This record gives sequence, structure tokens and C-alpha cells, in this order.
Amino acid sequence: MNLILLGPPGAGKGTQAKRLVERFGLAHVSTGDILRAAIKSGSELGQKAKGYMDRGELVPDDLVVGIIRERIGQPDCAKGFVLDGFPRTVPQAEALDGMLSAASCRLDRVVALEVSDQAVLERNTKRRSCPTCGATYHLVNAPPKKAGVCDRDATPLVHRPDDQPEAILKRMEEYRQKTAPLKDFYRKVGLLREIDGSGAQDDVARALDRQLEG
Ligand code: AMP
Repeated sequence: MNLILLGPPGAGKGTQAKRLVERFGLAHVSTGDILRAAIKSGSELGQKAKGYMDRGELVPDDLVVGIIRERIGQPDCAKGFVLDGFPRTVPQAEALDGMLSAASCRLDRVVALEVSDQAVLERNTKRRSCPTCGATYHLVNAPPKKAGVCDRDATPLVHRPDDQPEAILKRMEEYRQKTAPLKDFYRKVGLLREIDGSGAQDDVARALDRQLEG
């Protein structure tokens, strides 16, 4: 099963992707996580991406397409993958189509998680992330066991620069202009399913399962 999760920042793509990985043994491919790891390691890719990311802008297509080309060629993706945060533009989706057909591989579903602008703002201002393992928490709905530190590795949690209000507004705008058109792109080829992403994690997971089974 090869899937794409679409949705605005804070829609729950990462959370739901992790559940799908556990349930179906899929490879989790998050371009945001890969880019953050590149920034942390100080690599050339990270240096190129950092400014865009801190401002809440999309990183140029050629950089992320290069990441995906390398990542989905890795052995763990052969058993199926869930793309979380890619594609985010029509040219990225076209590049993905090209890569998949060259590998005689196809997409099975594209699931869009729908959440209101208000929920996006609220989720991102209250999101805290672990810079070591990438785990995310919500200060009210899913807080860490001990305030301010990651449950898994006790690293102090951070409020990502791109989860600050100004960057969130920019990310929402980028989503509206460049990513939302992908819904039409995938609707036309019959792959798109839309679900309500505003409920509790378990409810969203059930709705997602129904779309994958149906
Ligand atoms: P995410 O963790 O998916 O919300 O991504 C965080 C940031 O990484 C985004 O706001 C973009 O700056 C960058 N990014 C992640 N994936 C992509 C992509 N497919 N295209 C362009 N920029 C991306």
C-alpha cells in the first residue's frame, strides 16, 4: 500500500502516519522530518532549507524532489510507504508520478485531512516537539507525562520556529495557494478521499481506516 496524507500544518498527518506505520508496517516518509534532520546535522541540504522553513515558506521543489527520489528507492519503501508532507505542490506531484511509473509502482490512496483554520492555529501554537526523536505533543490534548520533556527520551521539548504565529500564518497561506490544488489533481484520477481531521486522534484513525478498506 502506497499512500499520501494531505492536509494543512497541524492537521495530524504525522500522528496518523505513525499509526499507519505501526498497523501496516509501512515506511514513514516525512520530508519535514528529513529536512529538520538535515538542519540538525549541518548538511548542505539543511543549510539551503533552513531559511525557508523558519519563515514558514515551502522549500524549493528541486530540493524536496531530490530527497524523495533517494528515499523511496530505499529497501524499506518496497513494502509500501506513507508520504507525510509530500507532495506539497503540483510540480512535486508530477515528479512523484514520474518516479513511481519509472519504478512500475503506483499510489493506492491520497487521504486529505480536513481541519478548520482556527484549529490549525490552535494546534500549532500549542504543539511542542522533541528535537531528538521528532515526537509531538499538544499542551492541552496530548501533553507529555512530565511537563516540558519528551516521554521517550527526556529531551527538553521545543516550540518549533515554524510553529510560531507569524510562520504558521505563512504556512497556512502556502498550503492554500500551493498544496490545496493537489486535491483536484488527485480527485481527477480517482485517488482522493477526504476525511474530517478535527476530532480526537482515535476517531480520525478510524475514519482513515474506513477509507483505506473501502
Ligand atoms: P512539516 O513538518 O511537514 O510541516 O514541514 C515543515 C516545513 O518543511 C514546511 O513548512 C516546509 O518549509 C518544509 N517542507 C516539508 N515538506 C516540504 C515539501 N514537500 N515541499 C516544500 N517544503 C517542504
